[in-house]
Amino acid sequence: MLKDIRSMSYDEILKEILEMNEKKFVANQIYSWLHKHQVSSFDEMTNISKTLREKLKKNFNTFNCTIEKKLVSVYDDTVKYLFKLHDGEFIETVVMKYKYGYTVCVSSQVGCKMGCNFCASGIAGFIRNLEAGEILSQIYTAQKDLGIKVSHVVMMGVGEPLDNFDNVIRFLSLVTDENGQNLSMRNISLSTCGVVSGIYKLMEKKLQLTLSISLHAPNDEIRSKTMPVNKKWNVDTLLKACRDYTKETSRRISFEYAMISGVNDSDECAKELASKLKGMLCHVNLIPVNSVKERDYTRSNDQRIQSFIRILEKYSINVTVRRTLGSDINASCGQLRRGVKSE
Ligand code: SAH
Repeated sequence: MLKDIRSMSYDEILKEILEMNEKKFVANQIYSWLHKHQVSSFDEMTNISKTLREKLKKNFNTFNCTIEKKLVSVYDDTVKYLFKLHDGEFIETVVMKYKYGYTVCVSSQVGCKMGCNFCASGIAGFIRNLEAGEILSQIYTAQKDLGIKVSHVVMMGVGEPLDNFDNVIRFLSLVTDENGQNLSMRNISLSTCGVVSGIYKLMEKKLQLTLSISLHAPNDEIRSKTMPVNKKWNVDTLLKACRDYTKETSRRISFEYAMISGVNDSDECAKELASKLKGMLCHVNLIPVNSVKERDYTRSNDQRIQSFIRILEKYSINVTVRRTLGSDINASCGQLRRGVKSE
């Protein structure tokens, strides 16, 4: 199997290049073609000799994402891609336009093991982890296709990023490299369903990214029914990890809370949530749940959401409601990939 060159750090490329008896500057050129010019083939590296390009092709591959399907929302210009990977698997990526710039929502795995029952991502199970270069390629390919420069990344696509820890850390280091995409770590959000061991590992890295926690319930009774991960790490264990994380990194945590009618949206739930988050450096983001064909959850009505907000605010918890983007193109988690798989 050829090595995935887009996943390699500059130092790793340099080592390989020196072993091929090439000069150091060649490694700089290759790295720059890959991550600054963001080319998808060795033949586009025009200042590299043809002989060396052929040699590179024998040892390495770029494992690009190619566009299989592209949907553009007529409401808000949200773009959703279904990308094909080198092994024929499919992943989803969404590009959203905000006042401050473009945000890309990337996938971190093909499928998902976590099995949250309101989410379409895991319905067909888990296939494999994405390499760092495949996560980068989602951004590079979308940017090239749309002729834009992305300023923000959210790891909120298909997959559980903390279940693919090493590749995700490698991706974060490449995407923030000043000799590449050069994103600010502060413009990156990583979302987890609550893999506590991964939260502690991430804490040790002391990154300035925003950690989002898909909480979705204030207690074990509700959370264990909707999110199997809660049976391994329950609400108290998760919230303890979150407190430790904010103390260690001084970064505010964002709690995602999908409002599901009759499941987790009562005033009692709001009060319980407020009491558990009291005093934590955090923010709650309410998401009206998206309906998924295979599931029969419905979203809470506006009145319910407003009542929930009032209670959280009364307890001085920061709260916002997520804007719905791309609602006409099924822009949320796993829905497009599902569509193709079931055809
Ligand atoms: N596995 C990670 C990354 C996925 S992020 C995580 O769970 O955080 C995707 C976000 O969308 C998560 O907060 C997830 O819980 C949420 N989500 C999944 N299905 C949804 C649905 N049908 N409606 C609203 N939000 C949903």
